[in-house]
Amino acid sequence: MNPVLLSEKAHNLNNIAELVIKKGPLSRPDLVKLTGLSPATITNLTKELLKKRVIMESGKQDSDFGRKATLLKFNEKYGYFINVNLEASLPISIYLSDLLGGVIKSEEKYIDFEINVDNSEETFVNNIIDVIKAFIGSLDEVYRKGIIAVGISIPAVVSFDESVYSPLFKWDNIPMKESIERALNIPTFLENIARIKAIYEVNFIDQDIDKNVVYLSLGTGIGMVNFYDSKLIKGKHSIAGEIGHMSLNHFGEKCYCGNRGCFELYCGENNLIESAKRFLKDGKSPILKSIIDDDFKNLDIASLFQAHQLGDKKVRHLLEEAGRYLGFALADIINCFDPDKIIVSGDLTKEGSIVYDTAIKEVKKRIFDIIVRTISIEKAKLKTGDMVLAIANFTLGKILKDIV
Ligand SMILES: [Zn+2]
Repeated sequence: MNPVLLSEKAHNLNNIAELVIKKGPLSRPDLVKLTGLSPATITNLTKELLKKRVIMESGKQDSDFGRKATLLKFNEKYGYFINVNLEASLPISIYLSDLLGGVIKSEEKYIDFEINVDNSEETFVNNIIDVIKAFIGSLDEVYRKGIIAVGISIPAVVSFDESVYSPLFKWDNIPMKESIERALNIPTFLENIARIKAIYEVNFIDQDIDKNVVYLSLGTGIGMVNFYDSKLIKGKHSIAGEIGHMSLNHFGEKCYCGNRGCFELYCGENNLIESAKRFLKDGKSPILKSIIDDDFKNLDIASLFQAHQLGDKKVRHLLEEAGRYLGFALADIINCFDPDKIIVSGDLTKEGSIVYDTAIKEVKKRIFDIIVRTISIEKAKLKTGDMVLAIANFTLGKILKDIV
């Protein structure tokens, strides 16, 4: 067959599978409308996808007149994924899921992320490999044999060859993909955690309605993901979006990155918790002290919100300050990118959050009126505990062209 025709066919198969994943179940007439391809071509291509078990028939479309069209849905049981979520200060979460992120089994394991004399880069990667191997070894044979890819979410810079870099953990371009793929002999894909969440939010939940979107991920670290004309912008070294170290106060406190007054120092979850610890030690926050039972282990963002609601003045001051700085950052982002929409994620955006509400008031004071009238700032819809959905969606995006 002519290679040009073959690649056009491969493109169409991929496109149909993507549409069925995002918008399914769909009928063949739906696919004709959505792709612009002829009914005969859709019939042939869906026949091929059905034969490969990538899609399957799923009942009939409701219709008031005429013959009811058969619906097609994605076969999420085509195979299985191992999804691994690495997040700073949390245990590694590892999941066996179907191809849409439906969890079949999960496990958590603590491993040390930071490289030091007792934890070399090699030891760190081998520890991750051992955790994944042990998890796979614990699965029933039917799942073990059905694993088609491993997807890993990383709280650091993931370069184009999927090596990982983080001054915080002292990862100096560790070739993680290469090592894990070689050890497991399964295709393995890595990406930065904020990008994985953003891809899910923009491509799966929002479905390309807005083409220019900025996604801001607030957690222990802060990351920004920029989609321009629906394309994810990574930059020359794949570090585009490392906005946590943008200085919002040039004379502020020193950050581990070498800069001063970084965004992360005011709005990073760990930094907020460290600030709260300081005034708890000084005995300045009795309400928070009683909420956490005088035990720092219980101190988290939820306890700060609770203390604020019960009238803790020190906590209110801390959260309002975080909100103001978040507003400064949002204004800078809007002036840089002029996006259709900004999506903000993380526990700091929870319902009734003083941080988020203060930020929205602050940003509106700091941008042109014309932008205030049209900019859409929204909270992310992906819930903190649903990270596996986003990792599976990312991995599926990587592997789809090989299975269609
Ligand atoms: Zn910094």
